[in-house]
Amino acid sequence: MSRACVIEPGSTIGILGGGQLGRMTAMAAARLGYRCAILAPDEDCIAAAVSDSWIRADYGDRAALARFADAVDVVTIEFENVPADALDFLAGRVPTRPASAILEVTQDRLAEKRFIERVGVPVAPFRPVETAGDLDRAREELGDNGILKTRRLGYDGKGQVRIGGMASDAAVAAIGGSPAILEAFMPFAHELSVITARNPQGDVASFPPVLNIHRDQILRQTIAPGGFAPEIADRAVELAESIARGLELEGLIAVEMFLMDNGDLAVNELAPRPHNSGHWTIDACQTSQFEQLVRAICGLKPGGTAPLHRAVMDNLIGEDLLQWPQLLDESDAFLHIYGKASIRAGRKMGHVTRLSPLGT
Ligand code: AMP
Repeated sequence: MSRACVIEPGSTIGILGGGQLGRMTAMAAARLGYRCAILAPDEDCIAAAVSDSWIRADYGDRAALARFADAVDVVTIEFENVPADALDFLAGRVPTRPASAILEVTQDRLAEKRFIERVGVPVAPFRPVETAGDLDRAREELGDNGILKTRRLGYDGKGQVRIGGMASDAAVAAIGGSPAILEAFMPFAHELSVITARNPQGDVASFPPVLNIHRDQILRQTIAPGGFAPEIADRAVELAESIARGLELEGLIAVEMFLMDNGDLAVNELAPRPHNSGHWTIDACQTSQFEQLVRAICGLKPGGTAPLHRAVMDNLIGEDLLQWPQLLDESDAFLHIYGKASIRAGRKMGHVTRLSPLGT
């Protein structure tokens, strides 16, 4: 391995973002002897609670970013809506992995879909929409059953509307008139995801595809491995790795896909950071997705991704967290509590992973 890009244990990793993904990254980094510094505006910064230092500032605060750059050896993100120009500013001072160019693609659904198509990976048919007139034309081409999604700042189903039966002007108004895409509705059999890491030397490794179950457009449960036919699992990994290579990613990417009844796969969304559907790896794999991110951004070889157990991960959302005393008593359950100051409906408060022997 070329040592030029290697950032050795003992160095400091800078994380932009202060939520649970940053928290679990910092915990994995500490295990390998790294220190972590957080830059995030959050009042209740659960990543900073387990890190060496924290600059509480907005991502646009140049003086704070400069201080952060001076204090760290590499920068990564746990929150994909960090402004790309903040990452650009940092990149002039310290390696930033992933690069801002990747955020520019993944922060814009239209750019993302066009990129995915360009690397030869299938996506749901889509059309750009800015006006009700655009939407009328797009409906004629894609059918009336699609989903209108804002190009920017959508997650967990936010900024989206199922247009079936709605007038086009009402649909455009329902997403605040923001630039959008219309996506054909995909009558998928299953939703799955693959998490792939790539380091600056070009080594690539993927965790096996997992089956994701959403409720109210929020991930509720992940089953790993996902139990897909080997040719489907191989194809899903191939698609995710084409995307990671096409992006020249340095870091980790989650690739969410739809599996159709006929075995076809279409990519729905990319997240260039650790992902909720990878939390199971903490307890069921030799390397967790968080350690894999640390390895990738520090130029270390990827760790083993083969599952050692079958895992079922359930999110603890809102008051689900109140089950913690019972969960502590379960012999096969691994409980993770994120330490957020207050419970709110729809808020991810923790998760629990239950293990069983592979093949059960
Ligand atoms: P997204 O924010 O794009 O990840 O969408 C959230 C959820 O909405 C997905 O996990 C799917 O369950 C559903 N969804 C999104 N796009 C489509 C589509 N084109 N067809 C069917 N369901 C979709």
